[in-house]
This record gives sequence, C-alpha cells and structure tokens, in this order.
Amino acid sequence: VSSSQSKYLTYRVEDGVAVITFDTPNSKVNTLSFENSEEFKQILEKFKNDNTAKAGVLISGKPDCFIAGADINMLQACKTTEDVEKVSTESKDMLMDVEKSSKPIVAAIMGQCLGGGLEVAMSCHYRIAVKDKKTTLALPEVMLGILPGAGGTQRLQKLVSLPNALDMMLTGKNIRPDKAKKMGLVNQTIEPLGPGVDEPKVNTRNYLEQVAIQTAKGLANGSIKVAPRKKSMVDKVTERLVSYDFGRNYVLKQARDKIMKLTFGNYPAPLKILEVIDESLKHGYDQGYKAETKKFGELGTTKESNALMGLFHGQTHCKKNRFGTPPPLKKIGVLGAGLMGAGIAQVTMDKGYSTILKDVSEAGVARGLNQIESNFNQKVKRKRMTSFERDQLLGQLDTSLDYSSFKDADMVIEAVFEDLGIKHKVIKEVEAVVPERCVFATNTSALPIEQIAKGSSRPEKVIGMHYFSPVDKMQLLEIITHKGTSKETTSAAVELGLKQGKTVITVGDGPGFYTTRILSFMMAELLRLFQEGVRPKQVDKLSKKFGWPVGAATLVDEVGIDVASHIGRFMKDEFGDRYTDADVSFMDDMVDGGNLGRKSGKGVYLYQKGSKDKPENPAAIEIMEKTKIEPKMELTDENIQWRLASRFINEAVLCLQEGILASPIDGDVGAVFGLGFPPFFGGPFRYLDNHGAKQLVERMERFQAVYGDAFKPCDLLYDHAKDSSKRFR
Ligand code: NAD
Repeated sequence: VSSSQSKYLTYRVEDGVAVITFDTPNSKVNTLSFENSEEFKQILEKFKNDNTAKAGVLISGKPDCFIAGADINMLQACKTTEDVEKVSTESKDMLMDVEKSSKPIVAAIMGQCLGGGLEVAMSCHYRIAVKDKKTTLALPEVMLGILPGAGGTQRLQKLVSLPNALDMMLTGKNIRPDKAKKMGLVNQTIEPLGPGVDEPKVNTRNYLEQVAIQTAKGLANGSIKVAPRKKSMVDKVTERLVSYDFGRNYVLKQARDKIMKLTFGNYPAPLKILEVIDESLKHGYDQGYKAETKKFGELGTTKESNALMGLFHGQTHCKKNRFGTPPPLKKIGVLGAGLMGAGIAQVTMDKGYSTILKDVSEAGVARGLNQIESNFNQKVKRKRMTSFERDQLLGQLDTSLDYSSFKDADMVIEAVFEDLGIKHKVIKEVEAVVPERCVFATNTSALPIEQIAKGSSRPEKVIGMHYFSPVDKMQLLEIITHKGTSKETTSAAVELGLKQGKTVITVGDGPGFYTTRILSFMMAELLRLFQEGVRPKQVDKLSKKFGWPVGAATLVDEVGIDVASHIGRFMKDEFGDRYTDADVSFMDDMVDGGNLGRKSGKGVYLYQKGSKDKPENPAAIEIMEKTKIEPKMELTDENIQWRLASRFINEAVLCLQEGILASPIDGDVGAVFGLGFPPFFGGPFRYLDNHGAKQLVERMERFQAVYGDAFKPCDLLYDHAKDSSKRFR
C-alpha cells in the first residue's frame, strides 16, 4: 500500500482503489488555489503510475464541504486579461487530465460542491452525492461576474439538458442531490446515516467513502457501467432544435431577452455565458473550451466582476464577530408582535433560542403568531421544513402580555411604535424585571440610540439592532452603537445577528444612522421629482434600468408613506434645507387621504388583491399636481437617475467622513444588501473607486448650480475627486 500525505491532500490505497482526500488545514472549507493545484497534479501523477490502484476516489475530509470553489483572491491578484486566462488554462489542463485518466475516478460529494468544486466533480467519471441538508451543487460564478472557467460550461452541457445547463449557469442556483440525480448531474445518491450514532456526519462521510470505493472498483472491473442520462421528450426535441441554426438562435435569443429584461444589460457575465454556449453548439466542445477561456479572461477584468467579488469579500467580512466572544445567550425577549417584532421572533426561535414574544393586547400577539405561522407554512410547502419541525418550533415560542417570563432574559429587542416616549416607557418596564446582564436592543428606524438610552439606567447595555423588512428574507442587520455602548453589549448583539443568519454591519449613532439616512436623502429627491411632474411609473422604469432591484416609487409604497413621512419630518428637523427644500405637505396630504402605500391598498400606486398590475393612484397624482413646482433643469433620463443616486452616494461618503461608518466595506455591504444599491457597482464606495469620484462631483456641481446645497458634494468626496489615486477600498 502506498500512502502519502501533503499539506492539503492525502493518498492511500484501499482494496485496489486510491482514495484521495482533500482537507485544507485550519479551515471550514476547501477552496482551489495555486498551491493546492500543484499538489493535486503531483497526486494525479502518482495515481497514474501506481500499479496497486485500479481506480480512484476523490473525497473531502470535511463532512460539510466537498469543495466550495476556487479561491477568488487568485483572480483578484490578476492584472491583465492574459493573467486571468492563464488561471483558466491551467485548471482546465488539470481537469482534462482527470477526465482522460484511463482509470476511473469517482467524486464522493458531501457538503458544498460549488463552482470550481463542481467543475472538478464533473471532470471525474462518476459522482455520488449524499442526500443531507448541507449538500448542494451549483455553479455560482455568474454572481461574481464571471463564468465557470475550468471546463464547466462544456462538461455541464454533456451531463444535463441544455435548458437545465443554462438555468444553472445563468442563475447560479443551488441544486439539491435529488434534483441533481434527476437532471443527470450526479449518477447516484445515498441516504445519510440517521441520528442515534455519536457523530452521524463523520460516520456518513466514512460510509460515503466506502460506497465510493466499491463503486470505483466496480467501474474498473466492468461490473458497474455509467448509464447515459435518460432523455425526456422535451430534451430530445430541444437537442434536435438547437442542431439547426434557426433553432439555436431561437433558444439563445429567448434566454438573452430574458436576461436583458431582468438586468438591462448591466451584467456582462450572463451574456458572455450565452456566447460560449453558442460557440460550442455551433462548433463543438473544443471550440467551446477555447471560447470559455477567452470570455473568462475578459470577464475577470471587468469593473462588474471586481465589484461583485468585492461584495463577496465584504459579506464574508460582515459574517464575523470582530468584538470578541460574548457570554452565551439563551433567552431572548421580543417586545411588540407587529410586522417587525414577529419577524425578529421568528428568526430567533428558528435558531433554537428560547424566545418570548410580548405585546400589549391579545389581538397584537395573535397577529404576530399568525405571521410566523404562515411563514413557516410557506417553508413546509417549499420543503424547507417538515410539518413536524414547524409544530415543534411553534410549540416552543412563548407569548405573553406581561413581563413575568423576562426575568431571566439575556437580551430584549424592542419593536414597538416609533415614538421616543413609548420607547422610554418600555425600557423602564423591562429594566425593572430583567437581570443586570440583559442587553436592551432597539429596532428603531431612525431615532438616535443615545436619545433612547437616556431612558435607561444602564446605558452601556443599550444598542440599536435595525432589521429590514421582511425580517426573515432580508440579509442585512445594521447594528448601531452609541457612545456609551459597551464592547460586550456590541459583541452580544453581533453574535445574535450572525446566529440569525444575518450579514451584520456595525455603525455609529446619529439621525437615521447609516442606511435610513442615505435612503431618505434619496427619497427627499424623489419627492421633488414627483412635484416637478415625474410620474411613479417613469421613476420606477428609470431606477430599474439604473440597476436598483425595486423602483424608487414602489419602494416608498413598500416602506409605507406614513413611515416615510414621519422619518422625512424628523430628518428635515435634523438636517434642514440640505435634506430638502421641497414641500413636505405632499406626504401629509397622502396620509390624510389614507394613501399609506401597499399596506392600505393605495399609495402612489393602486393595489388590487390577486393582480400584479398596479396602476398609478389618481389621488396621488392629484396631490402631486396640487404641489407642482417648475423643474429647474431638463428632466432627461440621466438627470433623473443621477439626481437620485448622487444624493444617496454623497450621503454615504458623508457618513464615512463623520465617522458614522467605521469603514467603506460596511458602507458598501449596507447599501447593497439593505437598500438594493446596484450590486454590479459593488456599493457606493466601490462605485467611486471604479468609476471616479471626479465624474460624480462634476454631475453634482451641475445640479448644485440650480438646486443649491442639497447637491453640495461633501469634503471627502472632493478629496477623492481632486486626487484620482485615492481609493476608498
Ligand atoms: P407595527 O405597528 O407593525 O408593530 C408595533 C407593535 O408593537 C404592535 O403590535 C403594538 O401592539 C406593539 N406595542 C406597542 N406598544 C407596546 C408595548 N409597550 N409593549 C409591547 N408591545 C407594544 O410596527 P413595525 O412596523 O413592526 O415597527 C416597529 C418598530 O420597528 C418601529 O420602531 C419601526 O420604526 C421599526 N422598523 C420598522 C421597519 C418596517 O419596515 N416596518 C423597518 C425597520 C424598523
């Protein structure tokens, strides 16, 4: 038996099968890098020459991760298109070697099998996946602005049908083992070993290894054959169709139209993926491989991939607690069973915390419970949860109309009405019952935390935890510390947020903190545009073209016009005319007429149950007309888009200048994941680095000349405009 061990890979022969185990030291995941691909090549060479091994198995030492993809630092270190192409060529050569091996190799998959990881698996001759919760297969490259560059675009087409291949590559979506088997992506699935064993995961991994060894042996001696994918009628018709020019053009045009409708051409990667597919359908896989490398090189140096990879790093950064390890948190109390409180309770109990939800009335509690139950029912329907798990979780949630069960709470999160007086009242009530150690977090949208903390006898325990609606779907959590918040308090809040699955940014205190502040400056401009005669549908069309996932007018309706109006008045008091010199009575008139946004069925749009169609609300248009003002400059599409975006970006930079933001990374992550700032720009700061602060300042100065201080670029933005070598990130 020849066995060996290097840093990442071990090699041993069992029963005539070489077992190659990938296990990156001191890391939760395996990623592909220059360093380990060298080892990989050496091991392959050894395998080829090893007469004792008739077949091979590639498996990970980690039960939760086969291979999570290529290390993206490898790409980010590249300066030129040629450098990026080289990354593709080298990995492609290596995987071609795997594919061409005269001895069969089985990929044994458990845990994440993503991007480059799936490309490795696809180059093997047989794939077995464990049907556990953590096992997912995907090609998420498109989300990083690139494409699978190690042969994946071609091998995927050989394994699965064209519609499935396009779907996987264009969306980057996760495929679960059952579906992967059905599609032809894996050859076999196995059940995980059930509970009742000491370490079920490790045992399952070892069981997978044994199944893979026997399969590899069978493939080598011919007792097991790789069955070709069973083609459905639709598969056969599609295959036939794309063999003709018109058919291929038709299928690809459909896909292209869909991409353009969704992205307005702002994302180059999906379009290039289609070009690669087109090339292979026309000229075969060899040309396809070449096209893949070329387009991979082109994409790897775009501003968009730079921005998207930056976001990926930013998100990783915001998934860590940089404030130390807090004492364990067990019991969490949530105050207010409204839209937000119920959402917060849901994501808390879902992670196994003992959770109490309190409201002032039975009706309030019932409303909250109803919200949680219907969200869980959705999960059951989508097979994300079993009905048993739902019932168990719901049974664990404690609801209450008084504070009796708060006496051993480790943290209380309040989500009562947005009113300083009420917030002070509940702080007093809470502090009368909870233990000294208990953290008091407030989910206010805009009230400065320091003012809320004035109602507390332990201000060091007071912190802001600003969730976004809907809480169970939105990724971001903005944590706000005031001057007196202790480090332990911050670390506890961050810990809970991370456990709830959130991407957490931590910012300083001030009116609207970071996210509410920058959004409301943009919304103030929207108000002026409405009054100048720009209509909701036009705004939405232009903002979507710009790259926002939701149009600005729709967003106001989603937030609620009453809420926006409340925050708007507060911001106007705090920031004066720099915030807006427009007539805010527009908002009052809207609210007085019951036009509160989607929740009341009418806002700037009208909403009808069961219909996706939303016409503009004539009452809203009438109010806009009533407060009409003359535009001071031409309302071109570009002017409208940039009057909105420039105020948002400038305010973000001002937040950095004032120390509300500790770093531009938090600023970029917050703007994209909390507010939908176009991801292909990578956030306001990445945008300025990639596209130039000078360009934005010049635009703003043109607006400033007619509209005044609302468009005054802040000092830090000027600094960057003057010196183009200065970078935020
Ligand atoms: P909501 O009106 O849906 O819910 C408020 C709930 O608090 C009601 O059920 C009410 O009965 C209850 N309540 C009032 N006083 C209470 C008390 N003393 N004890 C216990 N419960 C009490 O409001 P919401 O939209 O969930 O917002 C709650 C907070 O979250 C506000 O501060 C709001 O600014 C903030 N917020 C809202 C959003 C959003 O999108 N709606 C986003 C972020 C933050």
